[in-house]
Amino acid sequence: MGPAFLSLIRPGALLRRYRASLRAKLVSIVIAPLLVALVALLLLMALWGDRVFQALLTYKVNSDLLVAHEYFEHMVGGVEDRVLQEARSHALVNGLGRGGAMPGILAEARRAHGLDFLQLLDPQGRLLAATPASAAGTEYAAWRVVASAAAGRADAATDAWSAAQLAAVSGDLARRAQVALRPTANAAPTDRTLETRGMVVHAAAPVFDEAGALVAILHGGTLLNNNLGFIDTINALVYQPESLPRGSQGTATLFLDDTRIATNVRLFHGERALGTRVSREVRDKVLLRGEKWLDLAFVVNDWYMSAYEPIADSRGRRIGMLYVGYLARPISQAKDLALGVLVGLFLLLAVAGALFSLLWARRVFTPMTRMVGTMRALKAGNAEARVGPVGSEDELGQLAGQFDQLLSDLQQRNAELRDWADSLDRKVAERTRELEDANAVLRATRQQLITSEKLAVAGQLTAGVAHEINNPIAVIQGNLDVAREILGPAAEPVRHELRLIDEQVRRIYLLTNRLLQFIRPEEFAGNMERLDVGEVAAGCLDLVRHLIKGPEIRIGQDWQATRRVRISRGELQQVVVNLLTNAIHAMPEGGTLTLATRDWEEHGVTLHVRDTGRGIREEDLPNLFNPFFTTKKQMGTGLGLSISYALVERYGGRITVESKLGQGAEFIVWLRESGAPA
Ligand code: ADP
Repeated sequence: MGPAFLSLIRPGALLRRYRASLRAKLVSIVIAPLLVALVALLLLMALWGDRVFQALLTYKVNSDLLVAHEYFEHMVGGVEDRVLQEARSHALVNGLGRGGAMPGILAEARRAHGLDFLQLLDPQGRLLAATPASAAGTEYAAWRVVASAAAGRADAATDAWSAAQLAAVSGDLARRAQVALRPTANAAPTDRTLETRGMVVHAAAPVFDEAGALVAILHGGTLLNNNLGFIDTINALVYQPESLPRGSQGTATLFLDDTRIATNVRLFHGERALGTRVSREVRDKVLLRGEKWLDLAFVVNDWYMSAYEPIADSRGRRIGMLYVGYLARPISQAKDLALGVLVGLFLLLAVAGALFSLLWARRVFTPMTRMVGTMRALKAGNAEARVGPVGSEDELGQLAGQFDQLLSDLQQRNAELRDWADSLDRKVAERTRELEDANAVLRATRQQLITSEKLAVAGQLTAGVAHEINNPIAVIQGNLDVAREILGPAAEPVRHELRLIDEQVRRIYLLTNRLLQFIRPEEFAGNMERLDVGEVAAGCLDLVRHLIKGPEIRIGQDWQATRRVRISRGELQQVVVNLLTNAIHAMPEGGTLTLATRDWEEHGVTLHVRDTGRGIREEDLPNLFNPFFTTKKQMGTGLGLSISYALVERYGGRITVESKLGQGAEFIVWLRESGAPA
């Protein structure tokens, strides 16, 4: 977990992991457009929401201003109503005749109507009576309202009165109007320090006598400078409880020119911001250009959503402004909070969505991941590695199943191939062995051929020697006969010795003759005789006797055959000598060699050569008559029996053998009487 987590926060490692993960790529492909769309949507919503929000704020402040405006008009109308009502009152009309009572009546009426001043003027606008006591001699006919009243019509207006005009009404009024200017950032520069003018709402109404003739004008009004009750009422009306979000606060202000003369806007220390001035920007737009201001404005010390409208005097000149507004910060804060919550929620959802997608993708990609793991395991040498059941039936799940199937097939093919290769190896080894055996046979054959060749040469030499011996023997025999003749009876004393010489010479002669017969069979072949097989076989014994060197070999002879067979003597001798030689070789420790003949029914004769030697292994029996089969290593040629068989076969006969290992052997030569193939 630790290292994996660490690798997550290393950008390089993260990038590598991403590059190696199909899952991450696919998830990004799905999520990226969604994310872009959502971010764009969020931005759009934020921008659009901000505009709508601004518009709503503007609508609200505009409607607030409308309410304030209505109230202001209502207030002006109220002053007119009260002056008109008083102008028509009996008390006033009756009091006209009594000059001394007028100030009392006016004072009473002023108190009752809550006005700051009330004056009775003559139809030309000259002062007749006033409360509070005003300076005499001032003309009021210049005011539009007074002129209207003189024309018989009640009228009301808001006008800016100079300090002198105020003072003419009352010193107190002039004093109450004074507002000390406070230096204000952003306001248009000024070198004035005191506002001495007053904004006055005043009305005038004609006073008629009972006959209906205009006898006087009633002129009264209220000073708005420092008139906090008036501005608080507007504020309370516009910004009733619960009409603004928590934390915001509504404000209302009356400006004379650009100076706050009545306001509930507070300074830092809680004091009302009287005497501060509006920003130059607002002043230019509202006062100079006569337009409405509906926007954010920096009011004294904070940003307010503000509405300003100009106030015109009776001559239509812009003399001041009416303002309402509310603190924008809590509202924009609420908006920002909502936006923040929205963005946060979005991010949270996006992250949760991405995580969910990743987890989901992990499940979807399980077969793929497992296949990659399996391939790694296979590469590492685990041939048994398989994906196994992945619990998915989609294309990837099917792919995993087929992958496993493929692996199993491959493994099976591999095994088959290996088996095949093994069997091929075995076959090659077998063939190699056979070849080696054949080679050995070839080598042995060559050796045997060499030996045969040697034997043939030896045979020829022997034949030569045997031939040469015949001549001296003939000379010896001849001379012996001559000697016997010459000696006559004188030979009697050596008769025995002479006979011995005779016998031995005959023996030598016989021996050489047989040798020649054996060695040069071709000279005798074809020369078939009717032979007594026993006699020929007994003769052969003489040829092989010299082979018996070691322990004694007893020789038994049992000649019972009565028939004779037609055969070449030399060839029969060759066969017999061969059989006798083999028998003697088989008995190196001595034993009994038995020779016998029997009649073979009417066919001919059988010759039996039996020994008590080492016998023949059972598996060698079928090969015995094959050329070159020998167990005698360098000593034998393996040709004796095969040649013998071939010879006998030519005369229609055969050779059979009976033997058991360790129990001697018996070779039987079957010879036909006719000497011709059957
Ligand atoms: P060679 O005598 O040169 O080996 P042969 O054809 O005469 O060739 O004999 C073949 C083989 O037969 C001999 O090597 C020997 O093993 C076996 N054999 C022949 N005669 C006898 C026997 N009488 N007793 C045991 N083995 C014999």
